Amino acid sequence: MKKKDLLRGIPKVDEVIKQETLFFLLEEKGCVAVTEACRAVIDELRKNIIKLKDEDLADFDIARLDICKIARDAAEMIEENEKLNLFPIINATGTILHTNLGRAPLCKDAVDNVREVSKGYSSLEYNVEKGKRGSRHDLVCKLIAELTGAEDAMVVNNNASATLIVLAALGKDKEVVVSRGELVEIGGAFRIPEIMSQSGAYLQEVGTSNKTKPSDYENAIITKEQEKDFSMLDNMRGTKRFETGALMKVHKSNYDIVGFTEEASLEDLVEIGKKHNLPVIFDMGNGLMIDMQEYGLKEPNVPKSLATGIDIILFSGDKLLGGPQAGIIAGKKEYIEKMKKHPLARVIRVDKMCFAALEATLMKYRDEKIALRDIPVLNMISASKEDMKLKAKRLEEVLKKANSELTTELVEVEDQIGGGSAPTVRLPGFAVAVEYGKMSAQGIELMIRRADVPVIGRIHEDRLLICVRTIDEREFEDVAKAFKLGNCKI
Ligand SMILES: *Cc1c(COP(=O)(O)O)cnc(C)c1O
Repeated sequence: MKKKDLLRGIPKVDEVIKQETLFFLLEEKGCVAVTEACRAVIDELRKNIIKLKDEDLADFDIARLDICKIARDAAEMIEENEKLNLFPIINATGTILHTNLGRAPLCKDAVDNVREVSKGYSSLEYNVEKGKRGSRHDLVCKLIAELTGAEDAMVVNNNASATLIVLAALGKDKEVVVSRGELVEIGGAFRIPEIMSQSGAYLQEVGTSNKTKPSDYENAIITKEQEKDFSMLDNMRGTKRFETGALMKVHKSNYDIVGFTEEASLEDLVEIGKKHNLPVIFDMGNGLMIDMQEYGLKEPNVPKSLATGIDIILFSGDKLLGGPQAGIIAGKKEYIEKMKKHPLARVIRVDKMCFAALEATLMKYRDEKIALRDIPVLNMISASKEDMKLKAKRLEEVLKKANSELTTELVEVEDQIGGGSAPTVRLPGFAVAVEYGKMSAQGIELMIRRADVPVIGRIHEDRLLICVRTIDEREFEDVAKAFKLGNCKI
């Protein structure tokens, strides 16, 4: 057949659209999407034919001009275009607060509440009792106060923005004293010195990387009167000093300093703060609400830290608290008021979905046992090695049933908290090591990562490990599906 005839044989867009395959999609996705997909498929086909060399013309498969096939291709293209970029995946890495995988999975009640609150109108800024405007700030502050012992609280977008607004409200044009051992980088551009300069506060670093004494803080304090004296240059290098605005402690979230070390405790800072009438701020980061020492977590927690008498604490909603991405600021009312009135408050405020998830999550903390049972992050941390072994056994059975060609073995692993929290904690757990014929560990990893519900595993010593601590049992069937050859798109 000649090229000219092939081109003439391509069906017209108007005709393809009328194909039965596309009836439903026309109704569902609209005329524009369907027409464009048909046109794209036809254009591609035309280009391919034009490119054909004369000697290849005879080999051209006439079936490609079939109007039904073109309609089917268009339908497939529409579906492909509709695929969302944010979708669920299965975390088989054993790292609980995996930042790349969305940190904390929410508890069921939080998920249900997000759906309820966001599908229609809500009491976000409306006081139903009084029949007039309310404030979103009031939604969870009573609950946070009840759970932590703080006088008042405020919720912002994340802990990074909490740090920014606290420093801007209490430290602008003043000095904030921080230990050199606590000048943390959390990740990306979040570094204490940088966030400090963004807030308009001046960082006054004290002590050394390994040792900072209470007296280091005290000696760094500058009063308003001294500021005047210092208005000349205070030393040969010409550093101007400003009145001290606050003392700040930053939790060493993602690193540990060991050896010849010393640091000032919150109690030490509270004492100095009282003496000099300065607020003490604690950037705690992880948001742990209960004592979890018995599970190996020697981290500070929010109520205990506040009980030392500090003025302000800030922490993340989606680290060890196990809720949505949020930054929570709690403490003395006079300071929280300042932040609520600060212009940045609007810039970093959170929406109804966040409040819905956070309130339902916090509610669980009214009873520690309920929190440990229902909040996935806490549940995963507190799961015992024995639990993990049994869980791994159950997964192994599901995998073998799904694909008899898999070779599996239960192996001991050390799971992690992740999300830049408790970096030295290792949770003894179990994984299913999977081998599949002659396929390399990388090959299997790719296969399960490209499954309909992607599974992210871990490769250790050339073996693919499926760590069970971070997998919900209800996901086992999806894990099994990923291990069926032909169920992935490589
Ligand atoms: C994680 C962390 C932050 C940043 O919190 P995000 O919620 O990730 O913005 C700030 N400070 C400390 C000490 C942290 O651990």
